[in-house]
Amino acid sequence: MAKKQFKAESKRLLDLMINSIYTNKEIFLREILSNASDAIDKLCYQSLTDDQVGLNREDFRIDIILDKDVRTITVRDNGIGMSAEEAENNLGVIAKSGSYKFKNEMEEEKAEDISIIGQFGVGFYSAFMVADEVTVITRRYGSDEAVQWQSKGADGYTITPAQRDTAGTDVIMHIKPDSEEELYGTYLEIWKIKALVKKYSDYVRWPIKMDIPHQERVETGEKNDDGSPKYDYTMVTENETINSMVPIWQRSKKDVTDEECIAFYKEKHHDSKDPCAVIRVNAEGTVSYKALLFIPGEQSDNAFSAERKSGITLYSNGVMIMEKCEDLIHDYFEFAKGIVDSPDLSLNISREILQHNRQLRVIGQNLEKKIKGELEKMMKDDRTKYEEFFKNFGVDLKCGVCDEYGRYKDFLKDLLIFHTSDDKQVTLKEYVEAMPESQQAIYYASSDTLKHAMSLPQCAQVKDRGFEIIYLTSPLDEMVLENLQDQDGKRFCNIVTDDLGFETEEEKKAAEERDIECREMLDYVKEVLDGAVTKVKLTSKLVDMPCALSTEDGITLEMEKYFRHGPSEEMRSVRANRVLELNPEHKAVQTLKECVESGDKERAANLAKMLNTMAELMAGCDIEDPAAFVKQVGTLF
Ligand code: ADP
Repeated sequence: MAKKQFKAESKRLLDLMINSIYTNKEIFLREILSNASDAIDKLCYQSLTDDQVGLNREDFRIDIILDKDVRTITVRDNGIGMSAEEAENNLGVIAKSGSYKFKNEMEEEKAEDISIIGQFGVGFYSAFMVADEVTVITRRYGSDEAVQWQSKGADGYTITPAQRDTAGTDVIMHIKPDSEEELYGTYLEIWKIKALVKKYSDYVRWPIKMDIPHQERVETGEKNDDGSPKYDYTMVTENETINSMVPIWQRSKKDVTDEECIAFYKEKHHDSKDPCAVIRVNAEGTVSYKALLFIPGEQSDNAFSAERKSGITLYSNGVMIMEKCEDLIHDYFEFAKGIVDSPDLSLNISREILQHNRQLRVIGQNLEKKIKGELEKMMKDDRTKYEEFFKNFGVDLKCGVCDEYGRYKDFLKDLLIFHTSDDKQVTLKEYVEAMPESQQAIYYASSDTLKHAMSLPQCAQVKDRGFEIIYLTSPLDEMVLENLQDQDGKRFCNIVTDDLGFETEEEKKAAEERDIECREMLDYVKEVLDGAVTKVKLTSKLVDMPCALSTEDGITLEMEKYFRHGPSEEMRSVRANRVLELNPEHKAVQTLKECVESGDKERAANLAKMLNTMAELMAGCDIEDPAAFVKQVGTLF
């Protein structure tokens, strides 16, 4: 029978496992048991709606069978099993992010540092750290046929028909011979397996059973001289459950340390990084539930795939009823992962019914409050950590503010932080509290990078007055402010496009007069620029710059840049109405005015185009003809 090859990346991982010098090889058992437990979860869930399964909750179990003579450990479950195709797809390639991430990290120059291995859910392949041959005999629930998957490691695997009476999976690991460095035979000892189950898999929700021999005293029927009964000692084997089966979230807070919760998170969610927050809830009331939630320490690799959709698993009294419950909490908190277990949720429930389930809504609302509370606490106690969190997941909160016409904005707005000068990030509340009395509005500048926003020429006038500016770096940020409308009664003011409100009545009047005086120049510049701008006007916003670009009628340059990569032609063709603003106090503008008025049209046209390109550059726009610009600048010398 032909040997099939592992996919290239799986082969590399496998090589690592086989040749692993990692001292913590023992985690293989945790991985295999956790797969067995997941498989039972799936069949148990199916049994809620499918009478054909024929198993009650108490019938599900995992068996560990040790055979010292042939050097095998078998982990047997009566879970959902795998079809031939599933065995091929699941065991022939790196299955999920955990293994994959592990492999990537190993390739990124850390190849020598195998100590990180235990932080990953490395999965099925870890069996090869202790076994020189792995055989999987499995039968998918609903199928009459069983299959055998077998591999000695990197040279490939075979799949053949097999025999198995009921659904489930046997993973048979043939243990490597002992070597000088490692006594693999220890894994065939009952005491060792018991210890490993206690250490890593105690909270597995299904009984892990093993035959444990112990001495038993039996009466022989004869009597001692003093008349007391005579005993004989024989070895009897009892099939015992060796895990306590109490899931970690069911244990009382005082019995479980944060470290244990973190270890649970890392294993369950295949994350090598500690979560930035652990939230434990034990609620009793109209709806009772226990929850163990985590806020990940970083954005997962598949942040934008469907995989990401809600990481909360729903249990009812220890039975998993939904792996990813999307309707529990809103998208803005969907970065939260973990478990919710409530006896008040009916087991026999479908996804559709869950959507309208009142209990679930109550739980969801409460959990959202808890998550918010935890984030507020982090913001107060450890700002650096919060900033890190915000870097990862701030975008979810911002989207939440804009979602459903701003329905959740009041709930979320105090969690938003924005960049100001000095590399600081503040909430809008903090910004307003720090405002000097004379400041009337919240000023913001928007561009595609922080550095660029900070160097916009319009900043100077605001900063000169001692007012702080919020620097935005995405069109989403602008949409957020638009949705919020104001903060504590203070309006938002775009320093590029909006009236800053700095001019006195007299200054306004003077500006009007100056406008009339410069009319000829302004009209001329507009004509020369030939449609590139919709308006040319004077400004007093620029302190030491000759010109700047702004926009009118709603669409800003940032939005234009954003839409340029949009999905439809209509979106991509969206253009902002550009306004060229000229600083009449600046020498360059005064020269331009003189040229226009004295009829030196060629020089005037040159200067006008040059000023417009300079303004475009400062606004971060691509310039159409850089060579022409350089030529224009050349004429100055
Ligand atoms: P992971 O558990 O991270 O998905 P693994 O490499 O441990 O990755 O397992 C790969 C896949 O193989 C699992 O997702 C599951 O679909 C399947 N699998 C492994 N063990 C079993 C089992 N005992 N019963 C049914 N399916 C299993």
